[in-house]
Amino acid sequence: MLQMVCTGCDHTEPVDVRVYDCPWCGAPFRFVDGMPNADTSFPNSIDPHEQGVWRYRRLLPVEEQTDPVTLGEGGTPVVRLDRWGAEHGLPELRAKLEHLGPTGSFKDRGTTLLLTALRAAGVERVIEDSSGNAGAAVAAYAARAGIATRVFVPASAPASKLAQIAAYGAEIVPVEGTREEVTEAALAALDADTVYASHNLSPYFPESLKTFAYELYEFSADDLPDHIVFPVGNGSLLLGAARGFADLAELSAPARSPRLHAAQAENCAPIVYAHNHRVMEDAPEWSATLAGGVAVAQPPRMAEILEALHDSGGTATTVSEAEIREAAMSLARMEGLYVEPTTAVAFAAAARLRREGAIGEGQKVLVPVTGSGLKDPLING
Ligand SMILES: [Zn+2]
Repeated sequence: MLQMVCTGCDHTEPVDVRVYDCPWCGAPFRFVDGMPNADTSFPNSIDPHEQGVWRYRRLLPVEEQTDPVTLGEGGTPVVRLDRWGAEHGLPELRAKLEHLGPTGSFKDRGTTLLLTALRAAGVERVIEDSSGNAGAAVAAYAARAGIATRVFVPASAPASKLAQIAAYGAEIVPVEGTREEVTEAALAALDADTVYASHNLSPYFPESLKTFAYELYEFSADDLPDHIVFPVGNGSLLLGAARGFADLAELSAPARSPRLHAAQAENCAPIVYAHNHRVMEDAPEWSATLAGGVAVAQPPRMAEILEALHDSGGTATTVSEAEIREAAMSLARMEGLYVEPTTAVAFAAAARLRREGAIGEGQKVLVPVTGSGLKDPLING
């Protein structure tokens, strides 16, 4: 039976879109049996008449007859990056172009299921806290669902980042203070009629990202990557991929799952620190980074991320601000691929993992392009 289980203390709750954290320990939930409508095998569970995320609706935690809130997300192509790869010792490098989503980032792949579940539950008002890609995705899908949205943002967020959110008709609420204080202000605004549509805490968001792994398997089962390197802030895409590969194993699909690696900016690397030191005591003070999408000092799903790295045989590494900038610029120059700095973190990390030997010579490597360069341009770059 579809249930939610706490990632901190294993407390279980019936599925409810209004419950976003554990009443006992405050940790986020994940689903148990997140494929309630699956058929006997992976191929039999695919709807061949659908494209993108909803091609796999039988493997998602929604009723079969639920009408999806969709903008055609998912179904992203994979392309080879021969020139950039050769220069960085990665002759078998590929990119999966998640930035081709309707709002310009991978967040659409998770938001479609989240807003589908919210609309099916009769929700009419949501709040979210994000000045970046998640805010834009939630605002867009909420507009399509006819759900009123308030997005809490840091008062310091640049106007260019807020323009897209505002265009979808969301009400923007600027908050003075730290990123944590923005979240606190959002939570303080919750009332009986409003649901917290959190991409960090809702179990629907990472569950929908399972389709990233399903697509890789459906369209290139014989040519799966040996390694996938993710830029990690809250870690939702890495977690979604890990769950997707676990589902595929349960549906007797892949013989071998790729190693999943986490890439962070040196300036803000709590996952890498926890992976290397096992404890968070004496962690450094984190500072600002060009890669705003991975500047998350306290990821709520940290324990799940560390488990996914360990279980897949992956690792975690950091890159400098100079490496981020250089990767973003050289990908555009050499491959015509205009990525946001957050995505460049993972490309720079792939090159570093190859130099340090975690990625072997000639192995197949895949990096998701999580966000378009149009969203967060590097000035003077
Ligand atoms: Zn708990």
